[in-house]
Amino acid sequence: MEKYNYLIVGQGLAGTVLAYTLLKHKQRVFVIDDGYKNSASKVAVGMFNPVTGKRVVKTWKADLIFPFLHTFYSEFQVFLQTNFFFPKTIYRPFDSIEQQNHVLAQSVEQGFSNFISLENHDEKYKPFVFNQFGGVEIKNGGYVEVSKMLDAFRSFLLRENLFLEMDFDENALIDSNGEMIIQGRKFEKVIFCRGIKDHESKFWKHLPFKPVKGEVLIGNFKDIDFQEIINRSGWVLPFENGVYKAGATYDWDDKENKITEQAHQEILEKTQKLIKADFQIEKQEVGIRPTTTDRRPLMGIHSAYPSLAIFNGLGTKGVMLAPYFANHFVDFLLGIKPLDAEVSIDRFGVK
Ligand SMILES: Cc1cc2nc3c(=O)[nH]c(=O)nc-3n(C[C@H](O)[C@H](O)[C@H](O)COP(=O)(O)OP(=O)(O)OC[C@H]3O[C@@H](n4cnc5c(N)ncnc54)[C@H](O)[C@@H]3O)c2cc1C
Repeated sequence: MEKYNYLIVGQGLAGTVLAYTLLKHKQRVFVIDDGYKNSASKVAVGMFNPVTGKRVVKTWKADLIFPFLHTFYSEFQVFLQTNFFFPKTIYRPFDSIEQQNHVLAQSVEQGFSNFISLENHDEKYKPFVFNQFGGVEIKNGGYVEVSKMLDAFRSFLLRENLFLEMDFDENALIDSNGEMIIQGRKFEKVIFCRGIKDHESKFWKHLPFKPVKGEVLIGNFKDIDFQEIINRSGWVLPFENGVYKAGATYDWDDKENKITEQAHQEILEKTQKLIKADFQIEKQEVGIRPTTTDRRPLMGIHSAYPSLAIFNGLGTKGVMLAPYFANHFVDFLLGIKPLDAEVSIDRFGVK
């Protein structure tokens, strides 16, 4: 029987980044996915932005996470020989004079200048952005074309005979003296990376997932063309070949993976308040984000089944969280470091 260190179940963003990180650490890895049937990653716009929210503050652990993600995706795209990593300037027009004052006041904070340019760039954006209160350019942002990255990694796994497309049934796992057997292969550990599907798992249903439905619009602008991401309460991201993505919605109540007219209207209105041109919509996409009640990732080993582990809860910011925390989790799995209490599943008590 073929033996591996790890089975990764789910080849979304979490499973992909974790599997590659384990391979880099010379671990034997096998991956299963059901063909992206329930994938948030397939519709993720892939934006990473170090300065967010109404208060325009540095995101959680930005100083650690951002240098890490730039190195990770640059190297990963060379490894896969596919371009999917696009660093971009983000322009943040202010909502009000108060917000402008607030941002300028906090610019003296340590490390802020790594992420915000205090030069005035407003004139450059005025022809196409509503920026009556001015704005700032955010550095170190951009986007990852996630579905392209997943496809390229899947091709690599297939070439190496490390991948099986199948609907994984957790009841089919056979425990053999602390190792797990499935599909005629033996694994020291099975790591669940099934996004929102892990919420239904008998092993993980005690974890406080709080799914958030999201929708985005895809289209183009007549007569204008810009290369920067424009981000206020909604955002517009220049994709490839004159195509732009706009979004996104956050719905905690509706769990149906279907597009809605309400989201269409909400995104369109935000886009019209941001960009001085008509947005011609070609497509609308939807997915459910694997978010948690405390908005932090979930990782760790099951307290009753030591051969089962989880890497999940990447929520609304999977692109920026995945590389740093996959590395952190691998350090833990290999016995190099303990898990940060903020992300360990033990913060919810042992099951
Ligand atoms: C509209 C929208 C826009 C977004 N935009 C951004 C963004 O701009 N930036 C950002 O950082 N994040 C964004 N996100 C969030 C991002 O998508 C998530 O953080 C991330 O994709 C989660 O990845 P995951 O691998 O944990 O889950 P998923 O992507 O859901 O992957 C889980 C995988 O497991 C597979 N699977 C499930 N059950 C089984 C089974 N039984 N057997 C086999 N395989 C199974 C699924 O099919 C899927 O391929 C967005 C999300 C949405 C919905």
